[in-house]
Amino acid sequence: MTPEHFDVLIVGAGLSGVGAACHLRQASPTKSFAILEGRAAMGGTWDLFRYPGVRSDSDMYTLGYAFKPWREAKAIADGPSILNYVCETARDHGVDGAIRFNHKVTRAEWSTPEGRWTLEAEVGPQKAKVRFTCAFLLMCCGYYSYAGGYSPDFPGAETFKGRIVHPQAWPSDLDYAGKRVVVIGSGATAVTIVPEMAKTAASVTMLQRSPTYVVSRPAEDAFANALRRRLPAKLAYGIIRWRNVLLGMFFYRMARRKPEKVKAQIIDMVRQELGPDYDVETHFTPRYNPWDQRLCLVPDSDLFCAIKSGAAQVVTDHIERFTPGGIALKSGQTLDADVIVTATGLKLELLSGLKVVVDGEPAELSKSLSYKGMMYSDVPNLASVFGYTNASWTLKADLTAEFVCRLINYMDRRGFACATPRRRETVEEAPWLDFSSGYVVRALGEFPKQGVKHPWKVYQNYLLDLFALRYGRLDDGVLEFSPPSMASQTPREPQRLAAA
Ligand SMILES: Cc1cc2nc3c(=O)[nH]c(=O)nc-3n(C[C@H](O)[C@H](O)[C@H](O)COP(=O)(O)OP(=O)(O)OC[C@H]3O[C@@H](n4cnc5c(N)ncnc54)[C@H](O)[C@@H]3O)c2cc1C
Repeated sequence: MTPEHFDVLIVGAGLSGVGAACHLRQASPTKSFAILEGRAAMGGTWDLFRYPGVRSDSDMYTLGYAFKPWREAKAIADGPSILNYVCETARDHGVDGAIRFNHKVTRAEWSTPEGRWTLEAEVGPQKAKVRFTCAFLLMCCGYYSYAGGYSPDFPGAETFKGRIVHPQAWPSDLDYAGKRVVVIGSGATAVTIVPEMAKTAASVTMLQRSPTYVVSRPAEDAFANALRRRLPAKLAYGIIRWRNVLLGMFFYRMARRKPEKVKAQIIDMVRQELGPDYDVETHFTPRYNPWDQRLCLVPDSDLFCAIKSGAAQVVTDHIERFTPGGIALKSGQTLDADVIVTATGLKLELLSGLKVVVDGEPAELSKSLSYKGMMYSDVPNLASVFGYTNASWTLKADLTAEFVCRLINYMDRRGFACATPRRRETVEEAPWLDFSSGYVVRALGEFPKQGVKHPWKVYQNYLLDLFALRYGRLDDGVLEFSPPSMASQTPREPQRLAAA
């Protein structure tokens, strides 16, 4: 059967995929597109994660789309509200009908002679194979494996008599009221789950190997809410969004320039929260500098309140083994537990493990260079969304979608069929992310490299990206354009034409 053809195929109907579809509708209205979504629902992360208290850890004025004001009172929002926001956006912009649910894309093959991608997807539980073709492929499939989270092999885990749960696969029937809970981990998920479970559990222990920076912010942004009452929604949203972008950049810059000062300030805030008798040195003083790993944000000091009230405690130690009744620690201490939550992280995955083939050859993306943080050297007509590590994901997702629309429109106007980033000179390489978190370090080998200079450098900087992606030249001498008539030639030949 002839595969169904679209100008653009978007893979993934999460925050990024739905946003990208809205951008396409708006900026490239003549283009046909569909969204292929592996699951039965849209929303991605915000539909998948169901653990108690699931919420954002950045503010919704920057995690929301540039084009759709966030209208709820809470700036740090709960998962269901974010999911609702994504679904509402899809409905409002009429892109919900373009989603093909239960279509998990497994392979994408580019053909230069045909000037198109052929995608293979598995449909439904039977995994029936379906093929689609498209001129441009936009991967919005997130950054981690949907098959399951990361959990180390804990010795003795099979002997534990209670339940072990991972936050990525939260069992809907888990009743933890009155139970003793141990949460393993110290990241964003652990600091979210602990105060929430502490509301009804008999006890909650956050067991961490080493501490993380934890910063409290008000869940509701009083300035933002006041402004929203006085100004039209879009204007207020724009002002608050920019204020939060700039404040976020300022704090990040301060942390990189004066790490000791910022470290002291954060630790001091924790001391004020927990009082002079609490061992802040052991439990809340990381060995690394702020922003070497992502900071953990807690709304309205909820974690600190749970600790102060005695409903939750933090233990900093190493696991010796699981026992039938809980966890034995290297220090000799034991933690009794009925439920163990392994908040041990995600498994990072590039392009959801998609097999990418270019003109019959498997594309080795781990050896490629990232172009503008979204395309891959020598891979034509493919872009992917990857958000910031030091700011909200959607800031970059919006810019990426905007850039792709610009590129598609440009190619249309000039009659080009193909755009490929080409490494024409030696470029000094660096790891894709400059982050020391375990889940990043474990996966970096599978990710592309970045270069040390534009356009190969992945700037974790919204302002720089804004200028480069919204206003920067498309024919920058690196992106090689070729018309359909060149399609039957080898991919490297058309470079000369690009300059023409
Ligand atoms: C618990 C949690 C909290 C977070 N909080 C924040 C926060 O506060 N701020 C922030 O900036 N970031 C946060 N993040 C990062 C977060 O993932 C992004 O903000 C954002 O939701 C990513 O959206 P996305 O659409 O790019 O990816 P996802 O939400 O991961 O959606 C990807 C979609 O693609 C689909 N898909 C994947 N592979 C395929 C395939 N091969 N074929 C078809 N479909 C496929 C998936 O089913 C999914 O629907 C958080 C992440 C987690 C896990």
